[in-house]
Amino acid sequence: MSERPRSAAAVIAAATAIADDVLAPAAGEIDRAALVPRSHLDRLAAAGLYGLAGADVHPPTRWLATEILAAGCLATAFVWLQHHGAVQAVRRAALADEWVHALLAGDVRGGIAIGGVRATTPSLHARRTGDQWTLDGTVPWATGWGLIDVVLVGAATDDGREVWSLLDAATSSTVSVTPVALVAANASATVRMHFDAHVIPPDRIVGVVAHEPPPDGDGGGRNNGSLALGVARRVCRLMTPSPLDAQLDACRAALDAADDAGLAAARAAAAAFALRATARLVVHAGAAAVVAGSMAERSRRDALLTTVFGSRPAIRSSLLRRLEAYPSGRPGFR
Ligand SMILES: Cc1cc2nc3c(=O)[nH]c(=O)nc-3n(C[C@H](O)[C@H](O)[C@H](O)COP(=O)(O)OP(=O)(O)OC[C@H]3O[C@@H](n4cnc5c(N)ncnc54)[C@H](O)[C@@H]3O)c2cc1C
Repeated sequence: MSERPRSAAAVIAAATAIADDVLAPAAGEIDRAALVPRSHLDRLAAAGLYGLAGADVHPPTRWLATEILAAGCLATAFVWLQHHGAVQAVRRAALADEWVHALLAGDVRGGIAIGGVRATTPSLHARRTGDQWTLDGTVPWATGWGLIDVVLVGAATDDGREVWSLLDAATSSTVSVTPVALVAANASATVRMHFDAHVIPPDRIVGVVAHEPPPDGDGGGRNNGSLALGVARRVCRLMTPSPLDAQLDACRAALDAADDAGLAAARAAAAAFALRATARLVVHAGAAAVVAGSMAERSRRDALLTTVFGSRPAIRSSLLRRLEAYPSGRPGFR
């Protein structure tokens, strides 16, 4: 079993070593692969980095580690990132004792499938059958299929509640998946999940809670913003020194300092920065940038993913305002 590095500096040193020595050298190959190598995730577990969802971890340490890993290989970081969402939910649940230790050690690896309950019209329904809960419907996104052991699933009831469960990430007669082909981080093995009268084992219920609509201006989580920073960080390292270095620091500082009301705007700024930084890399590389698999081309596709992943309405509108900030009235734009 792995032990998490004890200090923030040791966590960052471990993440940096893996990003530089293992992830970045293989990232081009993984970009063309169907699945992130399990050995990469094993390295993260062995270094204790699956433990960064622990209650005792200072969040900025997790955020910076995420950025560093995403700079190395977005697909690997993307799979690893989902784990923390699962752990954070399970940590608060009655089944925590049984699972949290193994999850934090990386002996059990988790993902999340929460889009079925959150959408305005739920796509995954939970109904009571005797003393059990049964799932029917779909979840549009679940990342890490084939690499994760368990998946946190949210479903909506007819009476306005949410049923959360930690299910085995495996297909069966009542669970099937459809792969989603992605233009970036395709090796993250992202799927659409389908449930057909799937009975939740009672000992896998994480909680049954009243549905609470997301807060106005929902910022979609600070850590998700680290993926965009990671892609930009990769560009900065390639082109350093450049004015981008200070802009990366400013974006990170804004995300770190953002309160609930300011997070969406900071997420949008980070996404816009990743787009801008990768555009600059494309221009800098010239024609070579359009050679499939070039660093510029891959990074540009990675920036697309960070523009839409984990987005929320307030992030989207803030980002659109940024992208539309051209002088008004110029002919030919519309
Ligand atoms: C490549 C990729 C992989 C993804 N992997 C996962 C995954 O492993 N697990 C997962 O749960 N989601 C995953 N998502 C979904 C992601 O977290 C966001 O839900 C999605 O990016 C929002 O997309 P959208 O802006 O098109 O909103 P829409 O899908 O149009 O949804 C409308 C609104 O519903 C709400 N909403 C939708 N989905 C969610 C959600 N998951 N959580 C909270 N609110 C939501 C948001 O307010 C969103 O703006 C993935 C998305 C992408 C693009």
